[in-house]
Amino acid sequence: MDMNGTKMLVVAAHPGDVLWRCSGAIAKHVKLGGIVDVVVLTYGTGGEANELFKAGYTVEQAREQRMKDFTKSAEILGISRFEFWDLQDYRFEITQEKIYRMVKFMRESRPDLILTHWDKDLFNPDHGTVFPYVNASLEAATGQGIFVDGTEPIERAPIFCFEPHASEANDFKPNLFVDITDVIGIKKAAMATFERKAKLAEGYVNRAGYRAVNAGSFGRKGCLYAEAYAAVYPIAQDGYFVY
Ligand SMILES: [Zn+2]
Repeated sequence: MDMNGTKMLVVAAHPGDVLWRCSGAIAKHVKLGGIVDVVVLTYGTGGEANELFKAGYTVEQAREQRMKDFTKSAEILGISRFEFWDLQDYRFEITQEKIYRMVKFMRESRPDLILTHWDKDLFNPDHGTVFPYVNASLEAATGQGIFVDGTEPIERAPIFCFEPHASEANDFKPNLFVDITDVIGIKKAAMATFERKAKLAEGYVNRAGYRAVNAGSFGRKGCLYAEAYAAVYPIAQDGYFVY
């Protein structure tokens, strides 16, 4: 499928989320001619950098390390634009000011589809907060009567939620599998940029193998690696994102 110029927007609580949860779909989208913008809401030092702190990093060093890691992975994945917003990690809270900041970004990015967190995660409070934040921001971004820095309203884009860390504990029910077999090498290389996260990266490769078995059960042929998503709105447009 030709995705020429189609814009994917990824909004994640922490930098690693982009890599574990949706880097296969990002690589696939770019490979097919699409464009990917990413907003990382926090540096992830509240929960994603435990291994760095155990190794003696200061908070400042951990932030620098994650920015360095993510910059490398963004290059590997072909991400066009990414921003780190440096919001409070553990706990991130939704405010009107943050909604307008996201409205502005969405109206500049003008996404055709959005990937973000599922609305429940017992293991990370930020993940569950990001979904209502993105959804409220999208709602406002489409509003003709919402005026933010001279930006123009956008059309509503479908939201696809990527998989939380422990799906079974978080009522995550995927209804879409993206075949990432041809880009699994890119996903592995992107995950490998993350300092002291090799074990987790291996786990997510294994999960992609398991999700490919699921995808095969639902009729996808020749799939060896897949990522699972939940479409939160009924799909009413052409079948993009089923590559
Ligand atoms: Zn996270």
